[in-house]
Amino acid sequence: MPEVQIKLPDGSVRQVPAGTTPAELLDTTDAVAALVDAEPWDLRRGLDRDATLIALPAASEQGRVVVRHSTAHVLAQAVTDLYPEARYAIGPPTEDGFYYDFDVPAPFTPEDLERIEARMRQIVAEGQPFRREELSRDDALRLFADQPYKREIIEATDESEGAGPAISVYTNDGFVDLCRGPHVPSTAAIPAFKLLRAAGAYWRGDESRQQLQRIYGTAWESEEALADHMHRLEEAERRDHRRLGLELDLFHFPPEIGSGLPAFHPKGGLVRKLMEDYSRAEHEAAGYSFVWTPHLTKSTLFEISGHLGWYADSMYPPMELEGAQYYLKPMNCPMHILIYRSRGRSYRELPQRLFEFGTVYRYERSGVIHGLARVRGITQDDAHIFCSREQLTGELASLLEFVLRLLRTFGLTEFEAELATRPEKFVGNVEEWDQAEAALKETLDASGLKYVVAEGEGAFYAPKIDVHIRDAIGRRWQMSTLQVDFQLPQRFGLEYTGADNARHRPFMIHRDLFGSVERFLAVVLEHYAGALPPWLAPVQARLVPIADRHLAYAAVVAEALRGAGLRPEVDSSSGRMQAKVRDAQLAKVPYIVVLGDRDEQAEAVSIRLLDGSERRGVPLADFVQHLAAAVAAKDHASLPPDTGPKPSAEGLSNAVDQKPGHNL
Ligand SMILES: [Zn+2]
Ligand SMILES: [Zn+2]
Repeated sequence: MPEVQIKLPDGSVRQVPAGTTPAELLDTTDAVAALVDAEPWDLRRGLDRDATLIALPAASEQGRVVVRHSTAHVLAQAVTDLYPEARYAIGPPTEDGFYYDFDVPAPFTPEDLERIEARMRQIVAEGQPFRREELSRDDALRLFADQPYKREIIEATDESEGAGPAISVYTNDGFVDLCRGPHVPSTAAIPAFKLLRAAGAYWRGDESRQQLQRIYGTAWESEEALADHMHRLEEAERRDHRRLGLELDLFHFPPEIGSGLPAFHPKGGLVRKLMEDYSRAEHEAAGYSFVWTPHLTKSTLFEISGHLGWYADSMYPPMELEGAQYYLKPMNCPMHILIYRSRGRSYRELPQRLFEFGTVYRYERSGVIHGLARVRGITQDDAHIFCSREQLTGELASLLEFVLRLLRTFGLTEFEAELATRPEKFVGNVEEWDQAEAALKETLDASGLKYVVAEGEGAFYAPKIDVHIRDAIGRRWQMSTLQVDFQLPQRFGLEYTGADNARHRPFMIHRDLFGSVERFLAVVLEHYAGALPPWLAPVQARLVPIADRHLAYAAVVAEALRGAGLRPEVDSSSGRMQAKVRDAQLAKVPYIVVLGDRDEQAEAVSIRLLDGSERRGVPLADFVQHLAAAVAAKDHASLPPDTGPKPSAEGLSNAVDQKPGHNL
């Protein structure tokens, strides 16, 4: 029998017969699979080559994938046990769970999910081993004779589903699935899971094909990790921007306008304006030129740019007019290029930094539209930078710094970046790509940002840096992108005259900060759970007079705040003070200001924040100054410093005195 050399985690190398399994060589406590030269591998699959071997614990990113993937099998097994007519399609792991798609006559109800989950628990308790087998194509087609979706995968030799040149299947008990693996050694090794919900999904995501029923679930390395995740899901639900949009009266999606096209209400419109004002001011300070381009263009432009060749599916269909076809623009780039190209350019004019708040329209399938996070009309704070080879590194470095500064201003401080490099098929020449990639890499290194290199994952026309953030509950969002484009400058024949009097092709950088104003707002709303910091809050202070006789003083306070450019709102309704405070909390107004007799006499205010902290008897002038300073600094809401008398016997009795009227 041939032998293989296996390097073990302790550094030792063992010579063992081929077919020896990782389970025989490793300590498998807590392990759900192994890594064979970084390739995930079943603990009981024979080793067939010289390799470095380590155990893959459940509590690791790849380990969780194995657990989730194995749980998806158990889900399909339970469904086919309970609904023998069900045809099963695909069941991949997702970022924090898994799903499986089924062809069944009727959608699953919550009661169905309970039954299925109970059946899954039985299967897990039975500890059924997963067995791997490799089959020929014909045998696999025979095995899945009555499973049309599996047959389609096999016929398409879809390697990601286990149907490459060798077709692998995994069997536990009577259930068999087409799969690349690996899996946990037995169903008993699934530590913790839960089914979440069911929803319709099209086969292959294609609306013209079979409607399937998708069941979503999640699985983790421990009950504790599962409970944490369920808590995060609840938090996500509480923070859902679609719900906050309605509750805070920010925006809605009128069906008369159409799917994915929001209408912003006055408060939402104001938040947008504040974001845009901030972005414009930052761009102005950073030396950008403001341009404006139309929403519609003849097809000619997108023929030259190539978008009609490879992006047409994501564009709205054309309008016929005066013998030409007009399109809604899905991107601003080609129009900015026309501005650059409108006359000859000299190296002295570079870099040209063109900026526009451009609204673009993209056709998104109705199934993927999601509140403001995925819409059909997107407003980008879009910029294109045309620069020389020598300027590239400097531009990228200042762009990245710009991006991070903007994200921090919105309270987003946990960053990760990804550098996507040259794919196999690309335009431009290798030397240019190398240079751009080196510039991007240098930029990332200098920034100190944590990043990973996604080899070969750039677009065919551009390497790029994607900046991801983690929000308040640890979710990862892709935010801003910096992209060096090799295609468009070539397609549009862009040039500049160099110091050497020769013609050169400029480098072009695409960059947006917000990405999409709509999506950015969705992320920010969810990050803050709707409690926007004072500078972004549509109403910064809600004034709550205790009784009608304090209305006149409330008007004085409101005037003082307005005079400092702030946004107060007086609650002059007839409700009780406690109810008004509660309303202001629900409206997530950062400063709730209660006004009673003592405040009026002392020309003071009593402040309560959303976190429940409060301070009474703050001189009005101090409060105005404090709030104005917090807004200018884009700080979070905070109490003004206590400048009143030190707590003395008198001060305390004062505070007690105030209580009946100031029951905050
Ligand atoms: Zn599998
Ligand atoms: Zn662009």
